[in-house]
Amino acid sequence: MSNFRLSFEFFPTKTEEGHKKLLSTRDMLATEAPDFFSVTYGAGGSTRDRTLSIVTELNELGVPAAPHLSCVGDSIEELRDLLNIYKENGVNRIVALRGDLPSGMKASSGELRYANELVEFIRKETGDHFHLEVAAYPEMHPQASSFETDLDNFVRKVEAGANSAITQYFYNIDAFYYFVDRVQAKGINIPIVPGIMPITNYSKLARFSDACGAEIPRWIRKQLEAYGDDIDSIQKFGEEVVTAMCQELVDQGVPGLHFYTLNQAAPNLAIWRNLEMDVEA
Ligand code: FAD
Repeated sequence: MSNFRLSFEFFPTKTEEGHKKLLSTRDMLATEAPDFFSVTYGAGGSTRDRTLSIVTELNELGVPAAPHLSCVGDSIEELRDLLNIYKENGVNRIVALRGDLPSGMKASSGELRYANELVEFIRKETGDHFHLEVAAYPEMHPQASSFETDLDNFVRKVEAGANSAITQYFYNIDAFYYFVDRVQAKGINIPIVPGIMPITNYSKLARFSDACGAEIPRWIRKQLEAYGDDIDSIQKFGEEVVTAMCQELVDQGVPGLHFYTLNQAAPNLAIWRNLEMDVEA
């Protein structure tokens, strides 16, 4: 277990209250000594300054922070400036993405179109300075024309210089195993870390899952629907289901877990602390 990697993802908040909550979540999650925190980036640069300032604040407790960086909607110059700022601020890990443009923003404003081009650009600009994470989609990226094309596009990112990958969240564990097998069959052996989304609010999760292409298996969906507004039961069941999935992943030897925290400490800590880790290795 010594190489096991734990990371927690945050998003930049807009309000003072949200910011306070983020910092208190940071303090609670830091007690688990994660390998890094990550901070999302609004495609088109909408959170450029906030992502940067939160990266600095997350670093304060000694846990390294990795900014996400997306390329659609940002110019080469803007991306280059940010890379330099991150370097100057001691950042050494970046989650490199294409991003999804907010509706209304024109795609042509970005010079790099896909994440593999961003990875290539970062390598060209900064050599091996950054450890580069990329996104992986066990259930296929929603815009991909086929699973095979998406797999080939994932391989492009690795060939461009990605060091490891974090998956979109999933509740269908077989999709994850199949994806990893297919990637490895193509001779790719970078760590692929499952992204974990705790279940705390069914209607939000259902909406988001439809948009990002993550399946909520029927047996989970039906149970959550039946709970209606009973938040306690949703959260209790969600914790059981996600803990069981994480335990199986850990037992199968995944290289780590990445929690999509949504800036909340309790559900993520509960799942993480429920897990039995083999600490011998
Ligand atoms: P890509 O790898 O570029 O793939 C996008 C689509 O294009 C896929 O369908 C792929 O098959 C296809 N494609 C890829 N390369 C090529 C190519 N060279 N030619 C033709 N087609 C190609 N979004 C944000 O805006 N901000 C964030 O901070 C953020 N963080 C995320 C973190 C993680 C771990 C994950 C899994 C997702 C995150 N996202 C974030 C969402 C992500 O930006 C979207 O899913 C986006 O639609 C795709 O990004 P990507 O980097 O996977 O794109």
